Amino acid sequence: MRIVSPAFQNASLGRSIEVNVLGEKKICNFDCVYCSLGPSELRISRLKQEAVFSPLQEILTGVGRALSEGAQSGEAIDSILVSGNGEPTLYPDFRQLTNALLERRSELASTTNEKGRTTKLVCLTNGDKFDDRDIVDALNLFDETVLKIDVGTETSFKKINRPLSRSSLEKIILGARSIKNLSVQTTLLAGDLSLNHSSQLDEWIEVIAMLNPKKVYLQVAKSPTADPKVKLATEDDLNVLSHWLERKLKIRAQVETDFAA
Ligand code: SF4
Repeated sequence: MRIVSPAFQNASLGRSIEVNVLGEKKICNFDCVYCSLGPSELRISRLKQEAVFSPLQEILTGVGRALSEGAQSGEAIDSILVSGNGEPTLYPDFRQLTNALLERRSELASTTNEKGRTTKLVCLTNGDKFDDRDIVDALNLFDETVLKIDVGTETSFKKINRPLSRSSLEKIILGARSIKNLSVQTTLLAGDLSLNHSSQLDEWIEVIAMLNPKKVYLQVAKSPTADPKVKLATEDDLNVLSHWLERKLKIRAQVETDFAA
């Protein structure tokens, strides 16, 4: 995966680039059954010794180039998605990375944005580091933090997201209370792991109600998945879930096809 992706159109975020802060190999503290990056092989205890992240200077150069090229071609970049090959908040100095991206954005603001528009800085996270004050402070500098919430029970969390640390759904929900511009992203699966069974659905709806996010994104997993036995949901399944969300919480979900893993 490149450090900065080519620009792509996203239904909710507009013209976007994805920034892979995690280097060439997957670095994540979850091992989701549906992950399109394959299984998480790097142990969290070996992170400091073995993980190779994208160098900060290369990230900033790539972002600057993408913003300038977008402006020159008359198609300004609306959103910078901080994500990539795993969990971005594992970046060694996430606060420094955030500040540097914000600086880059403001240095280029007068030349890369149409009048009155600001390029949004968006982070996709699994929320496992919401108990770290520095990470929360950094995330609160983003225009949007998109939290992965695929389930409503601890049992399903362990079965689907398979955290590599001592994480829990409860810890993530508690931590999310400190996040300002919170959205939720849910990846829907089919078969036994589907949310579209009444007990699972009610628990998930309850979690969404507790989180009270600004937006809810629904998506299907991309094939191949880390566990090849995982059954993929269809667009119809997404529409059923979206219907229930609107009926129970009056939240209109955004059905996505082009968010990162
Ligand atoms: S889907 Fe995201 S959170 Fe889950 S293992 Fe893959 S990179 Fe990590």
